[in-house]
Amino acid sequence: MSADRNLLKDLDYSVLQQCMHCGLCLPTCPTYLETRVERHSPRGRISLMRAVADGELEITRTFADEMAYCLGCLACTTACPAGVDYGTLFESARAEAERSGVSASPARSLVRLVSLRFLLFRPWALRLAGRLLWLYRACGLQALLRGSGFFSLLPRRIGELERQAIPIRRRFSDVLIAAVERPPGEARHRVVLLTGCIQDIAFSDVNRATADVLLANGCEVTTPRAQSCCGSLHVHNGDLETAASLARRQLDAIDPGRFDAIISNSAGCGSHLKRYHHLLAGDPVYVERAAAWSHKTRDIFEWLVEIGFRKPAAPAPVGEPSPVTYHEACHLCHGQKITSQPREVLRSLPGFELRECPESAMCCGSAGVYSLTQPKTATWLRDRKVANIRSTGANVVATANPGCQLQIQQGFRAAGGDARGQPRIVHPVVLLAEAYRAEARR
Ligand code: SF4
Ligand code: SF4
Repeated sequence: MSADRNLLKDLDYSVLQQCMHCGLCLPTCPTYLETRVERHSPRGRISLMRAVADGELEITRTFADEMAYCLGCLACTTACPAGVDYGTLFESARAEAERSGVSASPARSLVRLVSLRFLLFRPWALRLAGRLLWLYRACGLQALLRGSGFFSLLPRRIGELERQAIPIRRRFSDVLIAAVERPPGEARHRVVLLTGCIQDIAFSDVNRATADVLLANGCEVTTPRAQSCCGSLHVHNGDLETAASLARRQLDAIDPGRFDAIISNSAGCGSHLKRYHHLLAGDPVYVERAAAWSHKTRDIFEWLVEIGFRKPAAPAPVGEPSPVTYHEACHLCHGQKITSQPREVLRSLPGFELRECPESAMCCGSAGVYSLTQPKTATWLRDRKVANIRSTGANVVATANPGCQLQIQQGFRAAGGDARGQPRIVHPVVLLAEAYRAEARR
């Protein structure tokens, strides 16, 4: 892209002028709720973006910081009566802020290079890093360094990051799931399972459970070995160029025309995968295939309800139902408008009673890497979420995004108390897979 182009100026002007300044989105915006400052609201941010597009405002560090402060949770899009496409505005504004270089520093550039352009660009590299991290813990080095006070000698931030490092599974999806698995009897549907990147190394059990649930519902499951990161973290962090490269690579590896559906079990990935046609709109070679891809992409719960999933039979004897509550991942409820389907699955589970969580659709503060870049707001949202969950009395918390799962787990750990009294935080598809397995054991 040439230096004098501006992504906000290049936007269709109808997207920029949709906002009618009614303010109905303000009470749903976490950053506005935290500060009550107009600039930190959707309406305020859209005004800033429009001023940049109109040439009245330069991209400054303040503008970039404002866009970094926005969670990208899209709660404003659910509340907006005018249908403002805040997702497109936000992606363009973050990308433009990055392109302008106003926030650049050598350390920041290095972190972005290693994370976005190396680890998340090369699946083998992420898996290798995951295996090393697993070894670091399994061999006792982590416990040794922590116990020796080693991290207190380093800058405080490094110690904090070490404590926040994600859990790593011993075996990843390529070991747990065969390239093609067939259901008993004749397959009624042929689907692709996307295993994600963080989901793959931290929650490969969720991917195995998704495959099991699909098989139990008559789907032949293809899990391509060549799949790569979907690019959602790149878009969220203003790197549209790498995101487009990843989307093209995904489209080269998987032909959507061969399958009935492309299944994602991660809310953030699914929301982005459905926008490949938008990301590659200017690419004549890929635009058609990207449109077919977006059309075929389904969140796992959306797909299960669409095909009329089989409700698991109650194992006998049935005791007191276990209270389960549901935290809605932003990119499932706001990004994809999927709210009833996961609840339908949860209500079908024998032995569980679904209890609604107050503010279930409010962001938990995970938001990609937000908990790393904006720890104060992320912690405020996390603790608010934990308090809301606690008020339900549930001992199981279901949520369909790896980032939310990790953030809520950390919230309960930080809140302290007896570890045995903490709720289980789990993807709803794991609960459904467990119900099918229990049924099969009877
Ligand atoms: S995306 Fe979330 S944080 Fe950003 S303006 Fe909208 S509601 Fe507020
Ligand atoms: S984004 Fe929508 S809800 Fe918010 S002020 Fe603009 S028109 Fe109103």
